Amino acid sequence: MPTMYQTMSDEELTHALSELEALADKIRARKLSLDMARGKPSPEQVDLSRPMLSVLDADADLFDEGVDCSNYGCFEGIPSARRMGAHLLGCPADQVLALGSSSLLIEHDMLAMFWRKGSLGAMPWSEYAVANDGVRVKALCPSPGYDRHFAISADLGMENIVVPMGAEGPDMDEVEHLVASDASMKAIWCVPKYSNPVGITYSNDVVHRLATMKTAAPDFKILWDNAYCVHDLADAGDELANIFEVARSAGTEDRIVAFASTSKITFPGAGIAFIGASPAGIHEFAHYMQAGLISADKLNQLRHTRFLPDAEAMRAHMQRHAELLRPRFAAVERVLSEGLRGTNCARWTRPHGGYFVSLDGVPGSAKRIVELCATLGVRLTPAGATFPGGLDPQDTNIRIAPSYPTLEELHEALEVLVVAIKLVSAQIVLEERS
Ligand code: PMP
Repeated sequence: MPTMYQTMSDEELTHALSELEALADKIRARKLSLDMARGKPSPEQVDLSRPMLSVLDADADLFDEGVDCSNYGCFEGIPSARRMGAHLLGCPADQVLALGSSSLLIEHDMLAMFWRKGSLGAMPWSEYAVANDGVRVKALCPSPGYDRHFAISADLGMENIVVPMGAEGPDMDEVEHLVASDASMKAIWCVPKYSNPVGITYSNDVVHRLATMKTAAPDFKILWDNAYCVHDLADAGDELANIFEVARSAGTEDRIVAFASTSKITFPGAGIAFIGASPAGIHEFAHYMQAGLISADKLNQLRHTRFLPDAEAMRAHMQRHAELLRPRFAAVERVLSEGLRGTNCARWTRPHGGYFVSLDGVPGSAKRIVELCATLGVRLTPAGATFPGGLDPQDTNIRIAPSYPTLEELHEALEVLVVAIKLVSAQIVLEERS
């Protein structure tokens, strides 16, 4: 479908462009300073968890089912926190470690273990290239995806391989093809529910194929980052199949490594982070981590599980988050659909949960739109960030993070984005013609 600007005569196009440039000048004169860059909860959302800060005081009982949270010990996490992790990850509590406050750090540690030590008797990933004519181990990166995941595998020296992301998850024909005969393919990054940034939930078929596919590498890992597992916008959220159950019956449980945290449930960076894996996988990782950790912050774990003692409390708490997030996602949909109606200059996702909307402009437009928005006072995630190495091959994808700004700021920022999308799309048509 051609864009509105492609269907215009030269004269109409020049006129439309000068109107859009005048609009941009007016916006620039307002010296806005708005931020839609990172997926942070708003201050109102964070405030929902303030009562948790009063849960433990100087007179509080600091035992959790016989575990003294005020002293060293219980490396694996307190029993109630491991149960919380089991609920979030969908595996038995004895296959969960409740650790510090960042799931991303656990992901980094886990990959560092595979890199340095290998997994369950397999060769360390760092030695693979030496034994295989310099061929590096690879991580599959469904893209658009989460920049910080790609940064972890790149940091270790892995080669990141782009796999297209579709409406049901990664392109599984491509994934199966890549992993079936090449033993250097060692892992795939997945955000299976309300994926960052496209907002889709993996279909049953995708989950099933991931858990059961034939892999040339016996130590292949599915890095299952379920960061948005309870982050539904509506009461009936998307259903994600339980990958542990599928893998257990297929005999592939050792390939699953799952992560979650309460960063977007309670306090970002000050919550509890969890890892779940097969019994052998969790045992191995615990042993590795114990070289550098006696026990995590169990008082923080206790505070969390007293505040959110069961699944029902968690559900009610997440509904309150959803009440604050829903109007923001509705604003994205409204401003973009009204502002861009009939232009064919962009398409975007309408997620049922999570923290992001993913927008695709015309080829070659994303970097220019993000740069223009910056000069108009609106900060967006850098274009390309959703692809490994920051390289979006078509230069179309922009991640919109609507949670942090106030509704008023968000409206303003989205209106600026609409002007920038139209202006850059029109400029591209003019450049193509001249
Ligand atoms: N995983 C994903 C998919 C995320 O989007 C984020 C936060 N934006 C994280 C992990 C970071 O989680 P944590 O605070 O637990 O390190």
